[in-house]
Amino acid sequence: MENNPWQRAQKQLEKIAKAINLPPLLLARLHEPDRTITVSLPMKMDNGDIKIFSGFRVQHNNILGPYKGGLRYHPQVNMDEVRALAFWMSMKCAVVDIPFGGGKGGITVNPKELSERELRDLSKLFARRLATAIGPTIDVPAPDVNTNPTIMAWMVEEYSKIVGKKTPAVITGKPLTAGGSQGRTEATGLGGSYVLFSALKRLKKSPKGLTVAVQGFGNVGYYIALYLEQAGMKVVAVSDSKEGIYVKDGLNPQMTLECKQKKGYLSGCYCVGSVCDLNRGRKITNDELLELPVDVLVPAALENVITKDNAGKIKAKVILEMANGPITTEADTLLKKNNVIVIPDILANSGGVCTSYFEWYQNVHKKKWTKKQVFTKLQTQLEKVTTEVFTTQKKYKDMSLRDAAYALALKRIQKSWKQGS
Ligand code: GLU
Repeated sequence: MENNPWQRAQKQLEKIAKAINLPPLLLARLHEPDRTITVSLPMKMDNGDIKIFSGFRVQHNNILGPYKGGLRYHPQVNMDEVRALAFWMSMKCAVVDIPFGGGKGGITVNPKELSERELRDLSKLFARRLATAIGPTIDVPAPDVNTNPTIMAWMVEEYSKIVGKKTPAVITGKPLTAGGSQGRTEATGLGGSYVLFSALKRLKKSPKGLTVAVQGFGNVGYYIALYLEQAGMKVVAVSDSKEGIYVKDGLNPQMTLECKQKKGYLSGCYCVGSVCDLNRGRKITNDELLELPVDVLVPAALENVITKDNAGKIKAKVILEMANGPITTEADTLLKKNNVIVIPDILANSGGVCTSYFEWYQNVHKKKWTKKQVFTKLQTQLEKVTTEVFTTQKKYKDMSLRDAAYALALKRIQKSWKQGS
């Protein structure tokens, strides 16, 4: 159970449903997804081989609005993972107070092993298979782990061809040229920084000078590191799926990314200020990163990285969950006992889907907001919901922030729910 995210998600739901007296019929509805879709994706590879990939889309519930959530390409993608992620999307959209339900999808594939042609054809085939199940008012996918704006643009193109009408609002996270929103790329990381600063204020701490370690250096990990560094925090470690780096004096995320892109790997990219120097840091493992003596730990990669085996060794006082589901239930209990404050995923990383909503809204209403407008709306929204989560925590004494975020989300869903729907 510890490592099965779907069972964990169901247990979380049951626990909070009980605490807030959720109507049993609504609990039954949320306990299972509305619909699960599995598709077969046969492909001719560049070397002439035929390979069959499996694709998934889970539509968890649409009580607040169309199903919403990303598409992930990863060798570990499976139905239980996607089910959990879809459920978490339902909670996330509700907590951040946008009119969407929850969904998630993905393909079991390592996209790093595909050529560009293979990646494009696979994505377009996936869009064809999903075409009857998605749509701007039905289900709106977006990027997730290992997917990006280019892939979203391919899928929108294919969907638009099928329905015979240019339909940018069917998918969010598109490039600007394909109807994307200003600021969507940075939004998850930036949103995480808004949530963290807002939470720190409540904990009477200033971000200035706090040390931070970030696990993951993809879109989310990079931008959160960048914004935290810009706010005066010291980013002492980052990592990707292969390795991590520790730079005691605090690294420059932008230079580190440029160095990684040039070299093809992170180690040696010990960039402080405007200089990258081999003597300024050292290579570490992903496990070591999690246990560093830092003020704030930011898991920004995959689920289940903090378990009962390493939770006791975590030295950070605050964990900002930028990944979805990085902490198992047992680990959560241990962290609570050790007074570690966990800012839960459904709040911490909700800036991404919140900006997806802004993108969808602009598409539907044929508007174009500036980056400044987007960021101002995002900041206002995230500061509001962070306050609401803290207020909910106060109301239900002894609740963790995670439980409070779920309670708030479920209450919002309950408000819109009609018996028998
Ligand atoms: N994949 C992101 C998440 O997990 C964004 C989803 C979206 O924008 O729909 O929140």
